[in-house]
Amino acid sequence: MTNATQQTAVFQQPAIIRAYMTYPKRLKKLWKLLDTRAEGILVTSPENVRYLCGFSGSEGTLLLTRDEGYFLTDGRYTTQARREVAGAQIITLKKKWDQIASRAKRLKIKHLGYEARNVSVAMLQELEKNTDGIELHPVTAQLDSLRSLKDATEIRLMKKAARIAADSLAQVLPLVRPGMREIELAAELEYRMRLNGGQGCAFPTIVASGPRSALPHAATTDRAIRNGDLLTIDYGTLYEGYCSDETCTFIVGKADARQKKLYTLVKNAHDRAIEALQAGRSARDIDAVARKCLTKGGYGKYFTHGTGHGVGLNVHEYPAVSTASEAALRSGMVITIEPGLYIPGWGGIRIEDTVVVRRQGCSYITRTEKDLTVLG
Ligand code: ZN
Ligand code: ZN
Repeated sequence: MTNATQQTAVFQQPAIIRAYMTYPKRLKKLWKLLDTRAEGILVTSPENVRYLCGFSGSEGTLLLTRDEGYFLTDGRYTTQARREVAGAQIITLKKKWDQIASRAKRLKIKHLGYEARNVSVAMLQELEKNTDGIELHPVTAQLDSLRSLKDATEIRLMKKAARIAADSLAQVLPLVRPGMREIELAAELEYRMRLNGGQGCAFPTIVASGPRSALPHAATTDRAIRNGDLLTIDYGTLYEGYCSDETCTFIVGKADARQKKLYTLVKNAHDRAIEALQAGRSARDIDAVARKCLTKGGYGKYFTHGTGHGVGLNVHEYPAVSTASEAALRSGMVITIEPGLYIPGWGGIRIEDTVVVRRQGCSYITRTEKDLTVLG
């Protein structure tokens, strides 16, 4: 079966059936994971709300107990909530914290979990002011770890996002030539991603040419691309809330010997790290594999960031694949592998793919070939 027919089969499944199957399962897993005495949890980040009940809007709070769910939103979103939310009763908010607190009290919640990473000091003060008699408990880590294991539907959505992005890149690469500005290239790519079905950029597109490619997170500028430039494109689109993330580094016009040598070095670090992936290994080990390749080649000090990160509803999520990571890789985690080197004044090379960790090895989400490619 081709990829296209697989996609169609998934999206023909009525959304209501998908929701009925998916969200209660996730809630069950969440309560299993929670090592808290909280009888209720307040979910506030849009990504976690979406993950646990399906709501795709930007303003909504989920109040969960082991048996019940309440989705609280303001009047702008009630129609959308009725269409999307599964497994929770919808409540229209007038006085947000007041209503959340009185609902929690009515549910006899004595200990209320909240997302430490997503709650601002101001929000926490509001919450404390209104939840007199209720103890508040942070629960972020458990939510992160739940979301890091992707189910088959999530992986299909991420593959679809990556496919849209890769097809778009393939359409714009023939346009690249000396004189084209970085912003023109970024605009063409973003336009194609939209036209091909992407639902917005997963993050601001990076197009960094020449010496600017030495900045790992360069802002795209109006610099004109020149013959002999390294050209780094780090780009991603959204599909049904899921992000794609991929980096390609090209050479414009003609590659010189140093560019070829260092590209091969980074590509080797990327390939070795991907080969080393399998469930059970530590994320730190995988980082070490890539780092060792670059260090052995004499360029370790120019690799100035972690080897990768989890991707999903957020473009950067748990687990980190870095020297400081304490995560163990598990089957179903979607992570990037993106070694790079950045030499001030000369330029940089980064090669990034997104993969799913499997019991044995991994499989690719991103599609673009990473062999050295000369453009223009
Ligand atoms: Zn990226
Ligand atoms: Zn990345």
